Amino acid sequence: MNELALFELTKAQHLDAEDPVPSRRDEFHIPPNGSQDSLYFTGNSLGLQPRSAQEALKTELDDWAKHGVEGHFRAQHPWVNYHERFAEGLKHLVGAQSNEVVAMNALTVNLHLLLVSFYRPEGRRKKIICEAKAFPSDQYALASQVRYHGGNPEEDIIEIGARPGAHAIDEADIEAALVDHTGEVALVMMGGMQYFTGQWLDMPRIVRAAHAAGAICGFDLAHAVGNVPLKLHDWDVDFACWCSYKYLNSGPGAVAGAFVHERHVSDADIARFEGWWGHNAQRRFLMEPQFEGMGTAEAWQMSNAPVLNMAVHAVALEQFLQAGMDNLRSKSLRLTAYLESGIQAVAQVNDVHLEIITPNDPARRGCQLSLVAHGFGKQLFERLTEAGVVVDWREPNVIRMAPVPMYNTFEDIARFVHVLKRSTKKAPQNA
Ligand SMILES: *Cc1c(COP(=O)(O)O)cnc(C)c1O
Repeated sequence: MNELALFELTKAQHLDAEDPVPSRRDEFHIPPNGSQDSLYFTGNSLGLQPRSAQEALKTELDDWAKHGVEGHFRAQHPWVNYHERFAEGLKHLVGAQSNEVVAMNALTVNLHLLLVSFYRPEGRRKKIICEAKAFPSDQYALASQVRYHGGNPEEDIIEIGARPGAHAIDEADIEAALVDHTGEVALVMMGGMQYFTGQWLDMPRIVRAAHAAGAICGFDLAHAVGNVPLKLHDWDVDFACWCSYKYLNSGPGAVAGAFVHERHVSDADIARFEGWWGHNAQRRFLMEPQFEGMGTAEAWQMSNAPVLNMAVHAVALEQFLQAGMDNLRSKSLRLTAYLESGIQAVAQVNDVHLEIITPNDPARRGCQLSLVAHGFGKQLFERLTEAGVVVDWREPNVIRMAPVPMYNTFEDIARFVHVLKRSTKKAPQNA
């Protein structure tokens, strides 16, 4: 059993103690499984609750109780400019300037609002290139936008999938599609981190190809933000959106985010759906009839801030600022490599086929690994669940799991590896 020597609990605990990036696990509520912590690997779906969330919410509730409407100005964090609390954290996470980011709405809503501005089909140039098997909400958003503009999704949406036998998308196929459809592509819109396979696309390469072809380039960063370091400004991304309840730990349905590149934010003529919270903040309460945009990504805001939901987002972002995205990424690389080698060791010891469909090049993935356990089907997922492992199952046959550097440990992974070994034994061993 030499293959598994690295996964003895004492070894794992040693790795935790020695890691140059200290764990922040104590700052989170880890869902229990009986008297133990569950082995929670689903931070890619719903991040865990920061312990500071309750206090942050209570502060807002108390200010509301104490000040009523005056809380807009008198609250500890005045609600009237509450969204400004997020600029620091968001610019750190996505690599933006503070005039390029805003926390608002929910992810799919933001995707639609950005498509209003950035999907402007004209003449022959009306096609969208996107990934095959995109997250369903993104597919619905793109198809409904095409129909809204009088187009036909069957013709106007070009899906790029993995080549036969492969799981990852080859960026060269996006470049080739742009050439095949010269002059016809209005928008390249991709998930930066593919939610199913965990592939991190080469975002700057895609932006370069899109721009060279005269197309706009946007990303859905639901699975990228808080997972890998991003440089949206430098990469010249036109727009992006993300949610904050996955890696950003901001709670179910929490306020989402959006990025609009500087070169677009002050464009007074840009097509946009507008509301009073995007209006010049100095003049917002003058209730003027003419909209005058903020001149920043905030111009895309429509409504006043959902403070109760944002209160958690604020403390969650603070943790990212304290930890630093580059530190988290370096720890993430170590955790995911450890998990990968554990899965491989179990496959070898038990002589079973556990296929990781996530790219094995660490530069092409974040922390998530997507696993196909050949010959086990959903049964393996059920066995893991019974043993207190929280992972997720995606039809038809994939188990996704994400060791999150904020709160997952080498020990979590070692414990998982032992559960996986027990759960994938082919037949009862002879006594
Ligand atoms: C999680 C996720 C969503 C969810 O959309 P909501 O509007 O937040 O419900 C959409 N797209 C992608 C790629 C996701 O990963």
